[in-house]
Amino acid sequence: MPEKKVVPFRNNEGISHSLTQRLLEKGKSYGLTAIFPFNIDKIEVAEWVRLKCHYGCSRFDSNWTCPPATPGPDKVRAILDEYELALLLVGTKNCSDFYLNNGRKRFGQVRCWKGTISLERMLFLEGYYKAFSLVGECCALCKECAYPEDCRFPQEKRPSVESFSIDVIGTLKNLAKTSKIATQTGDTYNYFGIILLE
Ligand code: SF4
Repeated sequence: MPEKKVVPFRNNEGISHSLTQRLLEKGKSYGLTAIFPFNIDKIEVAEWVRLKCHYGCSRFDSNWTCPPATPGPDKVRAILDEYELALLLVGTKNCSDFYLNNGRKRFGQVRCWKGTISLERMLFLEGYYKAFSLVGECCALCKECAYPEDCRFPQEKRPSVESFSIDVIGTLKNLAKTSKIATQTGDTYNYFGIILLE
């Protein structure tokens, strides 16, 4: 019988270019277009992001992956202090569905969600035992979130990037990357996920 491969847990060893490429190959089938490793200190956490969730977003207090169910800014800062490296996941979506609540929009959200979680799983199996996903937009695995009743798929429940009070645009600026704002329904826009790595 062939010997089983045992993967050692990793401890601040960084991530190789070849593994990043393998993640991207898998991520492409979920709509991702790029993946970049970066240092955690580039992540901007800001109180005003939580404010935007609280005022002006219909998801507030209605989804397990959004505030107030997710950690506040102080807790987020403490969590990020336990990491040094993260991955930025970049995908592209069409703006025409953004303000709609239809099956096509939900399909896109679920695809993005499943893709991020599957990359987190792949990283865990590579020895990154602390890998943890923050997904772009809120969870749409259920047509209506069960909140405040128990989540139906707790193994796949993760906070959204925005719910973690992360200033995405500020973080992109720190990374010297840009993202244009979609102003027409025919435009495409970038969405971003993050995997906290080690
Ligand atoms: S899996 Fe369903 S119940 Fe759980 S957070 Fe997602 S939408 Fe809500």
